[in-house]
Amino acid sequence: MKIFLSLLLCLALGIVSPVLASGRELVASVFPVWLLLRQVARDVPDTSVGLLLPAGTGCPHDYSMTPQERRDLARADVLVINGLGLESFLGETAKMSQLMKDDAVVIDISSRMDNLLSEGDDGHEGHENARNPHIFASPSMMARMAESLAEQLAEKDPEHASIYRANAKRVQTPLLKLAGDYAALGSSISGHGIAVQHNVFSYLARDTGLTVDAVVQPHEGQEPSAREMLDLVRVMRDKKTAVVITEPQYPARTGKTLAAEAGIPCISLDPVAGGPVDAPADYYEQVMRENLRVLEKALGK
Ligand SMILES: [Zn+2]
Repeated sequence: MKIFLSLLLCLALGIVSPVLASGRELVASVFPVWLLLRQVARDVPDTSVGLLLPAGTGCPHDYSMTPQERRDLARADVLVINGLGLESFLGETAKMSQLMKDDAVVIDISSRMDNLLSEGDDGHEGHENARNPHIFASPSMMARMAESLAEQLAEKDPEHASIYRANAKRVQTPLLKLAGDYAALGSSISGHGIAVQHNVFSYLARDTGLTVDAVVQPHEGQEPSAREMLDLVRVMRDKKTAVVITEPQYPARTGKTLAAEAGIPCISLDPVAGGPVDAPADYYEQVMRENLRVLEKALGK
């Protein structure tokens, strides 16, 4: 019976997809961009919103696309990216257009953003002038991303401009409230140093007046050597780092070892780089509220 039902479901989906294909397909590169896009494009007629990479991927720094993902990309009418090199799996802009339809449009959210941090601002040795791409991991930056996305969608699709702009306003309200709460927490925890897994929390640290003292994995996905571990512990002791922050998308073992060596707590914050495919509309706010609570418990007075 179960097999029969899933067969029926497949048939039903097979009938449904050509209907969707007649409308416009907006595709988000990664999970946090998808969370934003599906809200900003809500209620726009004949438009479907998809997510290119699997929702749980997390930061796609060393990702390479599957053949199916390449086919999905080739079908998209609009691709929305975070930008700043986060989508390095797409290659350079020129290559990106080769992967897509001739009349497809790429919207780079970061292209209308200011107040960007350079990779080097958190002690990480990045390329000269390279910007830190993790803008999505800060509610204040996410609020600006909603505006950038809505403006660019409105320019490409003027007929529905008022819907995009109204949606962006609606999305921004809880984000700005969250940003205010992070700033308020910052007034009591500001000045503390943190050690992070990779440079994903630099914008959130700026929002709360925290300093990134050390980066456990300066090279994405690469564990530090024994020598680098000793150096990290020395730096954390010298700077009186308050806490080590790990992320659910990476193993916490190294962070926990470092925290134990330095005699400081280790906490986990979720940068919302990845998440469940059935994430509710307020998923970002839920996770960022929990992060706020964890930070306050670890560092608050
Ligand atoms: Zn990252």
